[in-house]
Amino acid sequence: MTLIKLIKSVLHIIYMPQINIESSYGVIIIQDMNAVHVDEVYAKIYGYESPESLLSHIDSFLDLLPVDIHKLATQNYHNIVAGKMYPRGHTFTNIDRNGREFTVFSVDHLIQWHGKPALQVTVIDLSVLIEANKRIREQDLMFKRLITDSGQGIMVHRNFKPLMINDACVKLLRANSKEQVMSIDSVLILIPQQYQDLAKQHYQEIISGNTVGSTSVVENNCFDGSSRFFNVYDNLIEWDGEPAVQVVIEDVTDKVQLERELAYKATHDELTDIFNRSAIYDWLNEYLGDSVDLTCLLLDIDDFKLVNDTYGHHSGDKVIKALAVIIKGVFEDNQGAVGRWGGEEFIGFIPRLDITHVSELAETIRTRFEQLEFKVDESVFAVTVSIGISEAKQCHTMKRVEKLIKTADKCLYLAKSNGKNTVNISDLGAI
Ligand code: GH3
Ligand code: MG
Ligand code: MG
Repeated sequence: MTLIKLIKSVLHIIYMPQINIESSYGVIIIQDMNAVHVDEVYAKIYGYESPESLLSHIDSFLDLLPVDIHKLATQNYHNIVAGKMYPRGHTFTNIDRNGREFTVFSVDHLIQWHGKPALQVTVIDLSVLIEANKRIREQDLMFKRLITDSGQGIMVHRNFKPLMINDACVKLLRANSKEQVMSIDSVLILIPQQYQDLAKQHYQEIISGNTVGSTSVVENNCFDGSSRFFNVYDNLIEWDGEPAVQVVIEDVTDKVQLERELAYKATHDELTDIFNRSAIYDWLNEYLGDSVDLTCLLLDIDDFKLVNDTYGHHSGDKVIKALAVIIKGVFEDNQGAVGRWGGEEFIGFIPRLDITHVSELAETIRTRFEQLEFKVDESVFAVTVSIGISEAKQCHTMKRVEKLIKTADKCLYLAKSNGKNTVNISDLGAI
């Protein structure tokens, strides 16, 4: 084994990371514990300008060593010279005459000096290496802190068993402690039942390297029983020499709720909380993918202007809301869509239901509405609604839908001219 290899193997045991070093070495020859020869490099390592300067400053070789190893060094010297012990290599830390701490690796050789046994000690300054190792350890610590102190939740798991979790993740998952999270067998318990198979499939894709780092918003259960939305980024890493999955999470519940709220507001009428006109068109566009038998109902409150004029706009609003509740209730079980068409007019579409059944539903709406009693101050009043119904067979284009609405509108007009508070079905048959 060469000297460098020996040093490296020793260092590898002391300091885990292996680093290639290039270092000059110094030599000192010791006879009877006196330094009898020193070279330039040795003198420099020990903080002297020259071998002469070093030799003139010491009485014995021991003056160059830390006091606590004086006894051992003397014993070793005598044992080696007496042939009782093989020369060895040592690592020791020392302080040079300028106060600089340095670490050397030394190798002893038994030699003859002027006809008498002596010990030749070769030393290699490892300070650069020690410094490099220190820096690596500091960097390790820095990266560790980067993870542990990160505001984003970070977790490492293998087959869903947690292997590492940072404080932010503990907080985001609303756990009491790191230990609580680390003690669970599987983070699958945090994933709602219906998404667990998908999560297992996703894990396999990541661990097999088929998916490279992916981001998704998921709903998770938390340790306190609450449910939160997380933006999850996960990717494949090596953990303790084996593949594992690193997960970075961020709580986006407020954002998801806001988005849902905005999406709801964009599709629902504020006063009645049913679909607005554009949402009705969206529904139709989605539905018309398949050609389908479709029935259309147009509903318009009778003499509504009079309601507003007599009881006030606020009372008018209450009447509109009350009719919306009735329509919604009746439509609910029929896979139809109801929306506010504008003002005091409503529109409804019901697919795959024969017109006789639909007219019965319309009749239910009409009678329930006329039976309502509205109270304003001392007055009690009732309001009625007129309804026009049309139907289309195998409807699959918006053009046909427009025609369907026009026909329903004509029927509504007929219902009005027939004295209001009636349901009028198109006698033109299906369009
Ligand atoms: P008809 O029986 O022929 O339908 O008569 P009508 O009075 O109901 O008809 P018209 O369409 O002339 O009147 C509708 C009124 O509805 C006019 C408008 O001021 C009122 N209106 C529209 N939107 C609202 C609303 O959101 N709230 C209230 N209170 N009134 C509204
Ligand atoms: Mg009207
Ligand atoms: Mg009206």
